Amino acid sequence: MIQPNLKSHSRPVLRDRFRRAGLPAWRADQVLSWIYGRGVEDLHEMTDLPATLRDELAANWSVRALETERVQISRDGTRKFVLRAPDGATVEAVLIPEERRNTLCVSTQVGCPLACSFCATGALGFTRNLSAGEIIDQVLRAREALDQGETLTNIVYMGMGEPLLNWPAVAESIRILTDPKTLAMAPRRITVSTSGIVPRIRPLLELGPVNLAISLHATTDAVRDELVPLNRRYPLDELLGALRSDDLISRKRPVFFEYTLMQGINDSLDDARRLPRLLRGIPSKLNLIPMNPHADSPIQPPSRAVCDAFAAAAHAGGLRITLRRNRGGDIDAACGQLAARGAGAGAGRGIRIPLSAEA
Ligand code: SAH
Ligand code: SF4
Repeated sequence: MIQPNLKSHSRPVLRDRFRRAGLPAWRADQVLSWIYGRGVEDLHEMTDLPATLRDELAANWSVRALETERVQISRDGTRKFVLRAPDGATVEAVLIPEERRNTLCVSTQVGCPLACSFCATGALGFTRNLSAGEIIDQVLRAREALDQGETLTNIVYMGMGEPLLNWPAVAESIRILTDPKTLAMAPRRITVSTSGIVPRIRPLLELGPVNLAISLHATTDAVRDELVPLNRRYPLDELLGALRSDDLISRKRPVFFEYTLMQGINDSLDDARRLPRLLRGIPSKLNLIPMNPHADSPIQPPSRAVCDAFAAAAHAGGLRITLRRNRGGDIDAACGQLAARGAGAGAGRGIRIPLSAEA
């Protein structure tokens, strides 16, 4: 049996678990400060715990959720961590160093059930959800690999999987990341990207002032239905309507829209001109990402000139835009290229898990 992991619970939950096991709740804080403060993952090394307690904890809990299998380093400095869970599942996380920040892109599922037509992860099918501990361990494995004095400044939930289809674990991982007594990350340094699971957007934003990114990719339902099949469940009107509600707008934080530019599919000037109209009333920033080609899709990126013209037309309509460079393409670490094919991945393309509103 795989033991439950100490990193899968936020501090209040773990305190409660300890209390119910007849232990003082502050023992949970002590254990967590070893794990997150000192990076100690062997319970037997937690020397200020009584030896009997160390044994008891070691018998019932695991600490390490993921082992580093290999690290691939791109010519541009992007590093892909290929990590392995005890059940053999492979999990990928990507570290993107920039001048003034180090961003880690974390995965939330092994594969993804949503099967977007342009995404390598979608082509894998869905194997399983990651636990909160497995999400947090991506952060810890990457943190260990940083040079001294360097820190992870930003976390983006943009790796493999749809975060809002693994809501309880994703929510718990955000609580752990942002707890001042564990990883102490400011919520505004965290971005969660979703293809548009509408009923879970509000609960996400209620966790705190985290950033929301929406994978838009099209300006009409006809095209989005083909690219992001989830659109048939939550069409553009419903998705954008939810983002226009007063209390979301009063957060005074922009919504980041991701728009992957695909040659001949969504890259016309008509699309570019429709975008500002579509997003009217939503404080928005548009991230344009030229398609990262991969073996599972025939779709290609438009030429640089087409990308520039698209960006200029959308900007002329009043949108704030960034045209992103692709990073890590040489090691299959760019957006949509994560497709670990280790044991445990690759089962059952087309498995659909229910998309109902309940968390
Ligand atoms: N499932 C979530 C988060 C992970 S995907 C989501 O879809 O939002 C992270 C981003 O990469 C999404 O915007 C996704 O649409 C985009 N993406 C997927 N495949 C891509 C590709 N081949 N090229 C460029 N971007 C891609
Ligand atoms: Fe899943 Fe996101 Fe890829 Fe779509 S783009 S298949 S939601 S990981």
